[in-house]
Amino acid sequence: MTRVPRSDAALPEFDRGTVPEGLVTRRKLRDMQLSPGGNEGPVAILRCRLCATRPQWSCRHPTRGFLLRVDLAVPKRTPTLAQEWALDKAMAARQTCGDCGRRFYFCLSKKLGCCIECFDGTPVDPSSYFAPSAPAAHRLAA
Ligand SMILES: [Zn+2]
Ligand SMILES: [Zn+2]
Repeated sequence: MTRVPRSDAALPEFDRGTVPEGLVTRRKLRDMQLSPGGNEGPVAILRCRLCATRPQWSCRHPTRGFLLRVDLAVPKRTPTLAQEWALDKAMAARQTCGDCGRRFYFCLSKKLGCCIECFDGTPVDPSSYFAPSAPAAHRLAA
């Protein structure tokens, strides 16, 4: 490990317990359900435990943490259940035959607007569409 003298030119470094308010590690940010948002990279380094005893050297260890600003972070976008339902509805529209009403595991041809069986009588594989008795929850998960 090459030793690099600690300097003000690089990112400021803090030992554990001395990190200023408003700065957190990337991992902590994730734990808070936040994404970096306006953070354009780390603003400071959280020094590893080892380096606490060597304040004159810059911490270059892989165990160091990168600190981001909490005030620039934004809440993570996680799709809500409603959005998932909307997505599923859109999918269902493309997978459901307009004639027989069966929902298939694949998107039907837009040109036909129905399944191949309704189009020209070619029997469809029963495993290619949802069994009519399948509960809605299973359909969503599929
Ligand atoms: Zn270190
Ligand atoms: Zn059909």
